[in-house]
Amino acid sequence: MNYHFKCILCGSEYDPETTRYVCPKHGDEGILDTIFDSREINQITSPRAITGSADFSVWRYTPLLPLENPRESAPPLQVGWTPLYCSTTLGTRLGLSHLYFKDDGRNPTASFKDRASAVVVARARELGVKIITTASTGNAGAALAGLAAAAKMPAVIFVPQTAPPAKIAQLLVFGARVLLVKGTYDQAFDLCLEASKEFGWYCRNTAFNPYTVEGKKTASIELCEQLGWKAPDALVVSVGDGNVISGLWKGLRDLLTLGWIDRMPRLLGIQAEGSAACYNAWKAGTETITPVSAHTVADSISADLPRDGVRAVRAVRETGGAYLTVTDDEILAAIPELARGEAIFCEPAASAVYAGLKKAVHQGLVQSDETIVCMLTGNGLKDIASAMKVAGAGTIIEPTLGAVKQLNIC
Ligand SMILES: *Cc1c(COP(=O)(O)O)cnc(C)c1O
Repeated sequence: MNYHFKCILCGSEYDPETTRYVCPKHGDEGILDTIFDSREINQITSPRAITGSADFSVWRYTPLLPLENPRESAPPLQVGWTPLYCSTTLGTRLGLSHLYFKDDGRNPTASFKDRASAVVVARARELGVKIITTASTGNAGAALAGLAAAAKMPAVIFVPQTAPPAKIAQLLVFGARVLLVKGTYDQAFDLCLEASKEFGWYCRNTAFNPYTVEGKKTASIELCEQLGWKAPDALVVSVGDGNVISGLWKGLRDLLTLGWIDRMPRLLGIQAEGSAACYNAWKAGTETITPVSAHTVADSISADLPRDGVRAVRAVRETGGAYLTVTDDEILAAIPELARGEAIFCEPAASAVYAGLKKAVHQGLVQSDETIVCMLTGNGLKDIASAMKVAGAGTIIEPTLGAVKQLNIC
């Protein structure tokens, strides 16, 4: 695919052969968008051709991905084509007749982050790099560790020492070199950048690496295809660094430019009350992101300074959406609601989306007959401690039928 990069701040354009990460004029804030020739893509493929594809993974969208030879560079692990469920219970409860849940916890390392890591690892192989690295709150690292294992590429992962044990277990088991940073995710991010510069490692850091957003865009392309190449009215997603919402927006912008969908959905960004830098900027009507001191049970969306904040605020503003915040209690309460109502077990950063949707309904931000998609980004097994706070307790009994009878279950 022919493509080039464009700085989201100044619009300067760059050749991917010579520019690897960000706009040299703006440093880490000069995130790059990927621009392609829509006519060229429409000449080689179409929604109908893709619908006929037998590849049920992110690679069904290779004509829309900025890679040279994905047939050879794609790591052999099935990422993407996650189920889009029509709500069976919670939609009725909220008075929404077309509510959907996309379960991205079904990815190989159990989070949405596999989409970005798949494309970044493919790009790393094309570049011929030897070592790949990232900073992560846990999921991006687990995804990179998994995809790097699939590609037989050594990975170095920087995570806060406080990351949930299940995520650290994933990093270790896939054989990555795991660096447990005594500090926050933001400190791990900066350290990873420094190390990658010093040692020449290829850096996957969220947003800093332009291919992360390109991987993440596959989710919105996929859900439009699953809806019969139609855009929903609203798409609800949780926001930490803002790269997931930026990726979903990019996929939708690509589809609109290609003429494959006919309208842009409203994007609703959900943040934890204790980690709400994008919400704050959106509310204040600015693109200047002021860092916060993030504290939330939803570790995957805990970010002092959202690295893709500018684009994340634009995604909501330019689509006529909204930002909402939810408390940790609301986030936790949403875990069993989703599990009991829809049989989807989410980690807190994903259940936050349902907590946010409830608020959006109460505030009249979504209408009953609209098609609404909730993006559920991570599996509940990632963070058992949080689930156990709200799941209730089992009943301990003697190993006798009499003991069961005494409980009067039916
Ligand atoms: C990373 C992540 C998010 C948020 O993505 P950002 O790009 O940081 O906004 C949401 N949910 C889960 C489970 C994640 O891992």
